[in-house]
Amino acid sequence: MRKSSGDSSSTTRRAKNETVVRAYSIPIRVDEVILEFIEEYHKLARSALQEILGARKFTRVERKQLRDKLLKDWNYASHYVDSAINQMLSLVKSYRRKLKKGKKARRPRLRKKFVYVKSTLFSLKGSTLRITIIPRKHYLEVNLANCPHILPFLKEVWAGRLKLGGLFLFPDRLILNFVKSVEFIDVKDWMSIDINLTNVTVLAGLTVYRFDTCELYHIHRVYELKRQKIQKISAWNKKLSEELLKKYSERERNRVKDFLHKLANKIVEIAKERRMGIILEDLNRIKERVVNSSKELNRKLSKWNARELQRIIEYKAKWFDIPVIYVNPKNSSRVCPACGGQLIPQEGRLMKCSCGLVEDRDFIAVLNLRMWGVRGSPEGVGGFEAFANDGPMKTNPYGVMAIEKQRIGIKFHEITLTPP
Ligand SMILES: [Zn+2]
Repeated sequence: MRKSSGDSSSTTRRAKNETVVRAYSIPIRVDEVILEFIEEYHKLARSALQEILGARKFTRVERKQLRDKLLKDWNYASHYVDSAINQMLSLVKSYRRKLKKGKKARRPRLRKKFVYVKSTLFSLKGSTLRITIIPRKHYLEVNLANCPHILPFLKEVWAGRLKLGGLFLFPDRLILNFVKSVEFIDVKDWMSIDINLTNVTVLAGLTVYRFDTCELYHIHRVYELKRQKIQKISAWNKKLSEELLKKYSERERNRVKDFLHKLANKIVEIAKERRMGIILEDLNRIKERVVNSSKELNRKLSKWNARELQRIIEYKAKWFDIPVIYVNPKNSSRVCPACGGQLIPQEGRLMKCSCGLVEDRDFIAVLNLRMWGVRGSPEGVGGFEAFANDGPMKTNPYGVMAIEKQRIGIKFHEITLTPP
């Protein structure tokens, strides 16, 4: 959940009943009956989708009619009909919501064959997961103890700290969703994170961590060049070129994902060790992100990576009960963190203020983000003047540190992650 940057006390930041989900896939082998069941469910869901899309209105009456109709030749547990209707209904709802907002939206279609198995349709006894296919007749049993990576989560389920949520049943695999309800810890301090094209800068107490993300950029470049080569093939073999494109996009995505997960793990580790909450930039609040390159592609990539990284950081943090807030990052690297004055760009990444501050722009950004995250953004308190009049000491102790960084002893850590 995103929160405005206005509220200031740390206790009001707690959301109620927040949950985080971690999904894991395990390979399974199913018999003929279950294969046919997955096939039949797919058909059922498709006709439900058509009915809902075609219906002028879909109230409780239409819902009951559809349910009765679908149940007529349904030989499996009837709960599956309900979840198919629910699943399709939410697909159609989000499609219509997008249309209403004037966004581009594709008419929903069902491509992948899978069954949503809600919690009333399975039970977990010890490590045995038992899914009802036909009540009292046919079940799918999976021993989760055979999957070593699942065992730690299973132990948490046994201890009552996690729940096993609805499952996704595919012909060859099962997706388990472990649900945790978040109980935010009382944090000692807040760390702020600024995401750029070539680095991610983190301010945690008196330490600045700068993670080099050039590797990420490198991955995108490599695959960009590969794609250009493949495009040439398409003139004489369209199918082959499409297949190759798909394969390489997938590889690129996986390598990027791998890198982002590593980076997020490091950051969340720091937050956990130091018992700090996390302040992120609310990227929805800025239309254009200014980066060091004029290329449109770079801009798009950095924005995509930034959002994806934030998403991963947020769920990993919440998995450890660490609170995460978003602040409006507008002008975060253009306003002096010490006096609120306008900064003037110098050579390299340095910024200068008339008050005497000369500092690295990423460092300035994390200082401002932390200050605004803890105290509210300039907009929240009526413009930059309010900060200037408040005096540097009161507004941002870090602002003074920015000037006397060496003396107070802020440490810079340059970190290069090992390439995936
Ligand atoms: Zn200044």
